[in-house]
Amino acid sequence: MELEKNAYRAHCLALTYPVQGHINPLLEFSKRLEHKGVKVTLVTTHFISKTIHKEAATSSIALETISDGYDEDGRAQAESIKAYLERFRRVGSQTLAELLEKLSTSGCPVDCIVYDTYLPWALDVAKKFGLLGAAFFTQSCVVNNIYNHVHKGVLKVPLSETEILLPGLPPLESQDMPSFIYDSVSYPALFDMFVGQFTNLGQADWVFVNTFYELEQEVVDWMAKLWPLRTIGPTIPSMFLDKRLEDDKNYGFDIFKPNTDTCMKWLNGRPKGSVVYVSFGSLVAFEVEQMEEIAWGLRMSNRCFLWVVREAEEEKLPKNFVEETSEKGLVVRWCPQLEVLAHEAVGCFVTHCGWNSTLEAFSLGVPMVGVPYWSDQKTNAKYIMDVWKMGLKPPTDENGIVRREAAEHCIREIMEGERGKEIKQNAFKWRKLAKEAVDEGGSSDKNIEEFVAKLVHS
Ligand code: UDP
Repeated sequence: MELEKNAYRAHCLALTYPVQGHINPLLEFSKRLEHKGVKVTLVTTHFISKTIHKEAATSSIALETISDGYDEDGRAQAESIKAYLERFRRVGSQTLAELLEKLSTSGCPVDCIVYDTYLPWALDVAKKFGLLGAAFFTQSCVVNNIYNHVHKGVLKVPLSETEILLPGLPPLESQDMPSFIYDSVSYPALFDMFVGQFTNLGQADWVFVNTFYELEQEVVDWMAKLWPLRTIGPTIPSMFLDKRLEDDKNYGFDIFKPNTDTCMKWLNGRPKGSVVYVSFGSLVAFEVEQMEEIAWGLRMSNRCFLWVVREAEEEKLPKNFVEETSEKGLVVRWCPQLEVLAHEAVGCFVTHCGWNSTLEAFSLGVPMVGVPYWSDQKTNAKYIMDVWKMGLKPPTDENGIVRREAAEHCIREIMEGERGKEIKQNAFKWRKLAKEAVDEGGSSDKNIEEFVAKLVHS
């Protein structure tokens, strides 16, 4: 949709939860809205805005901040997750209201708040100001469906049944549930936060999910009966998918500095599909034993590998591992993951199955070996293997550890086995479908278009 000259420009605030895996999807969604003529102001916390690299801020999207009550050190300053979320709710509601006042008196009134569902109080603020409110989910529809059933009291925790049957989903075992459901006591504040996403959702004017229709058709159809739910993803930078957005060179925000030159040079010299890329995202902290098993599994697979090990995790690697494997492997603290996945040398992605990493693997057609740690990763890993047939999930032993032989076996299967052939074909199919969804006239593109049209005419 081309913006007509002098047409009214609707203004959305896009309020992010201040972590990498939440800022980037909303930033990419904001770019799509801007591309269709909506003015978007990305809102994050004072603290996190200081860490956003300058080059990540795109020219068209304005950035504003509110306070989570921890302006100096962010979440690290809070005594607990519960304390952080409670203070964020209180201080965030107040500073969001102040920001809305400021924008309205400075001639830039807001029409709609698109808010991360970890911050449901933002919808209450929107409604108090008479604004439209759009929820933005950064996890899959499958996972949202499960949490909603807990919220409704249909799925009771602690779980008593071993096989869980929910509408729109295949039979699932309790270990396939998001970890905060099968273990609802270890992280009560996170459990409450996930279930709390649904408390006021009935008042939302739109419910957006970072997924694409073709991937989760059945559950999307089911959930769309409950709310005005629309799929708008995958929110991968346009340059890696449909290439329609020109202003897309600076495509994201990284909490760590990527080791771009080293990684890309190293990959450039490798044959097509020969490299195993390993990354467990920005938060996962495996036990030492699990890190050692992965290291051994990689070594035994005898493949070239690029492994992202964050600085804080480095000491968990086996002694001399980096030196002893330097002929085959490269270990870096952070890499430009999208560029790496897009590189033709990469043939397999050993991942924790975070939702962003999962969507990135789909969008770039890279088969996965899933080693989930917690949260929605367990459910994503189950779907990757059994439903989407886009990868393998090595079994764990009685202590929940993926042993080296299991990791090695799955890597070999994907790289050279019969199952690998089928998975690669599926990866190709999913990549095409992901691109089509965001391309002109695709399922996600149409949903964004519909939202923009209603905004402009509301
Ligand atoms: N990522 C990256 N470089 C790395 C490792 C990860 O840019 O070396 C990015 C990755 O592309 C993804 C995000 O970090 O967008 C991780 O998000 P995800 O939801 O997969 O996991 P989380 O970090 O939230 O557990």
